[in-house]
Amino acid sequence: MTAGDLQTWRRYRVVDRIEESGEAFSLLLAPVEGDLPAHRTGQYVTIAVDLPGGERHLRQYTISSGPGGGSFRVTIKHVAGAAGFGTGQVSGWMHANARPGLTLEVSEPRGELVLDDSDGPLVLISAGIGVTPMAAIVEDVARRQPDREVWLLHADHSHESHALYQTVRRHALTMSRVHTQAWYERGAESAPTLRPARPGFMDLDDIDLPTDATVFLCGPPQFMRQIRTALLAKGIDDRNIHRETIGADS
Ligand SMILES: Cc1cc2nc3c(=O)[nH]c(=O)nc-3n(C[C@H](O)[C@H](O)[C@H](O)COP(=O)(O)OP(=O)(O)OC[C@H]3O[C@@H](n4cnc5c(N)ncnc54)[C@H](O)[C@@H]3O)c2cc1C
Repeated sequence: MTAGDLQTWRRYRVVDRIEESGEAFSLLLAPVEGDLPAHRTGQYVTIAVDLPGGERHLRQYTISSGPGGGSFRVTIKHVAGAAGFGTGQVSGWMHANARPGLTLEVSEPRGELVLDDSDGPLVLISAGIGVTPMAAIVEDVARRQPDREVWLLHADHSHESHALYQTVRRHALTMSRVHTQAWYERGAESAPTLRPARPGFMDLDDIDLPTDATVFLCGPPQFMRQIRTALLAKGIDDRNIHRETIGADS
């Protein structure tokens, strides 16, 4: 039995495609028949793709939009491959082929990295394509809890590769107690972010976070390890750090 046998598959149609950055694109997916299933903010779906040659591949993609509406948004980084490695099979195929009208087999939403109903301080920390659950959470919080205190901390190669930046910014601007900070390895000085971006890797040393915050952390493995260590050193309880590893080297 394979993982695919345990899933319930439904056909979805790509209803729109949005280029998010040089590397990432969003797809709006709507069921071909019936209603969109309910999902909890932060969950992902598995998408099945039959590649040329007939091999079926399954990959997970976080629903990067909040609940409600008639479609899900997923945001996919086109894995172009590190030196010596090929293009990511499924993200490469989707990059080339996913256009409005294409149908895909999609699982029910799943995953435990979900926003709860509390109203305490919330810290969202991501790197690269790890921004996808944060975009869903920000959309949901902006709609239901616009006065909740939220930190939005993100690291990326550059502003140009920062996926979903405009979407997150639009929601952040409707919230009354939001703190934003981006770190870019290149071009931080000229990035048009809400607060000046900082150069280099994320460094939380002088970022004051409440020790009772609920934290969502998402990114590649090394980033996850470093930031978790920094959060523990700040006195944040490990049980309040919700983690999901996403990234080309995961
Ligand atoms: C819960 C969850 C949520 C996720 N959410 C998202 C999301 O919202 N957005 C998103 O973009 N991704 C997300 N991912 C990652 C996604 O599921 C895929 O892993 C990603 O798109 C890469 O798949 P691929 O088929 O394109 O790459 P693959 O073909 O699986 O390749 C992956 C990596 O391996 C390298 N590689 C290829 N061949 C070799 C080789 N022979 N030896 C060594 N390395 C090699 C590639 O260059 C690439 O870096 C999520 C993953 C999980 C588990």
